[in-house]
Amino acid sequence: MYRSHNCGELRLTDTDKEVTLAGWVQKSRDKGFMIWVDLRDRYGITQLIFDEARTDETIMQQARSLGREFVIQIKGTVIERESKNTNIPTGEIEVLVNELTILNEAQLPPFTIEDETDGGEDLRMKYRYLDIRRNPVKNSLLFRHKVTQEVRNYLSNLDFCEVETPYLIKSTPEGARDFVVPSRMNPGQFYALPQSPQTFKQLLMVGGLDKYFQIVKCFRDEDLRADRQPEFTQIDCEMSFIEQEDILNVFEGLTRHLLKTTHDIDIAQFPRMTYDEAMRRYGNDKPDIRFGMEFGELNAVAQHKEFAVFNNAELVVGIAVPDAASYTRKQIDALIDWVKRPQVGALGMVYCKCELDGTFKSSVDKFYDQADLAKWAEAIGAKAGDLILVLSGPANKTRTQLSALRMELANRLGLRKPDEFAPLWVTDFPLLEWDEETGRYHAMHHPFTSPKKEDMHLLDTDPGKVRANAYDLVLNGNEIGGGSIRIHDKETQALMFKHLGFTSEQAQEQFGFLMNAFQYGAPPHGGLAFGLDRLVAILGGQETIRDFIAFPKNNAGRDVMIDAPAAIENAQLNELSLALNIKG
Ligand code: ASP
Repeated sequence: MYRSHNCGELRLTDTDKEVTLAGWVQKSRDKGFMIWVDLRDRYGITQLIFDEARTDETIMQQARSLGREFVIQIKGTVIERESKNTNIPTGEIEVLVNELTILNEAQLPPFTIEDETDGGEDLRMKYRYLDIRRNPVKNSLLFRHKVTQEVRNYLSNLDFCEVETPYLIKSTPEGARDFVVPSRMNPGQFYALPQSPQTFKQLLMVGGLDKYFQIVKCFRDEDLRADRQPEFTQIDCEMSFIEQEDILNVFEGLTRHLLKTTHDIDIAQFPRMTYDEAMRRYGNDKPDIRFGMEFGELNAVAQHKEFAVFNNAELVVGIAVPDAASYTRKQIDALIDWVKRPQVGALGMVYCKCELDGTFKSSVDKFYDQADLAKWAEAIGAKAGDLILVLSGPANKTRTQLSALRMELANRLGLRKPDEFAPLWVTDFPLLEWDEETGRYHAMHHPFTSPKKEDMHLLDTDPGKVRANAYDLVLNGNEIGGGSIRIHDKETQALMFKHLGFTSEQAQEQFGFLMNAFQYGAPPHGGLAFGLDRLVAILGGQETIRDFIAFPKNNAGRDVMIDAPAAIENAQLNELSLALNIKG
């Protein structure tokens, strides 16, 4: 038996017990006649004591040879500590050692195994197994386990059936590039790794499974932005004989359950907002509603004077920064520079201070009098003491810029509190999205999403106006889930592919299997998928998802520990019929 107890469980009530413990040496303190060793495992730290007066000399010597991260086993007696440590649960006892076995020696670790480590990100990733010994990483993995377990319990209790769908498939069009896998047995042919199990879960509905979920890896070969992983995990779900309302209710229930079990927070009904409303009020389809600073449109109250910049703009829109009227010229100039950075791209910014005495002072006083500015303040909902910031230009672009500014200011002002949770459903997304690059429409969600019946007639005349039965769940300004009610008949699906620029042959070739299935009695169905990594990170109060993934890839998509991706031998390339392709 390696151990009778773990390193986190002994208490004062265990005094005088003979115990066996095993773990890693966190640190040791050698006072000559006495040596203390902190023994660590996943469950905690227990202090060991070696005392010249009570411990065998050979064991004393052995104890002196222990280095950090040595793996040891000890036998000993639990005794009460003289100077107690109230910071840890085992702090009232220590174990007087009478037998010590070194199970494995360890080299000095390249960074300290402490909550605050001296190791940089790269080093930590290279030695991730050592990083995982640290509390913050270990606790994140345990937290992730708790969340997935709650998800499994909750959905299983509602009769959802977890089904594994294949990883070696054919391309699914979700807007990103596929990772592909060459097939040795079918020279020149490739599998694709799924961007999501979308078509399979729909086929499970045709198969009559009724309620499906899966905690599943998905793969997308996208240019890596900060905090994106080429492989990530979804909680993927699908249901039959449901309407949008049913889906929203079930997954609102799941989210509420998670907030309750992880934070003991009760949130009543989640607010809902249409996509159009979210864009108008926040310039963003995933607004953070933990704080205000809502947009106020000023076209009606700012386009009647000689100020050409505003008069020529499609949209004039502003926000009120709370209690910022006291900002200095320098501070405001810095904000103007910030919105002019190429990443944001505004050409300039107008401001107006709402002074505490009820007067206004703006950068465009030349054009607008006090009565005009009072109307601006009213339209934006600014109160005395606030600073109004106004952008103008093409509507969509200007909204995006102002949204970036709103989020930046909220960060600076500490309005995005990690322990506050503000979920929101955003509904009625557009079905199609114009893609400048390819010069045609793309499915905003994916091509299996159903258009709203009442908008179908616009498909030919004004496709950009057609709304979809699609919804996102937003939490604290992050999209944590999204889904849709699907098309479930062949004709509509074929029509959709036509509008996306597929010839009927192309549609048949790529998605014949799905459209055929729709001819054998497909039930009405719909679903959604949560991004598990981000969900766990937000619930865990952290910004980066990497902390919640055991072995994440770095920003260049590399696993620096195993050094992947890597070249393969010519022989292997030959076997896969790839050698020629590469040379040629
Ligand atoms: N497959 C979709 C996605 O990955 C989710 C869904 O529509 O259920 O975003």
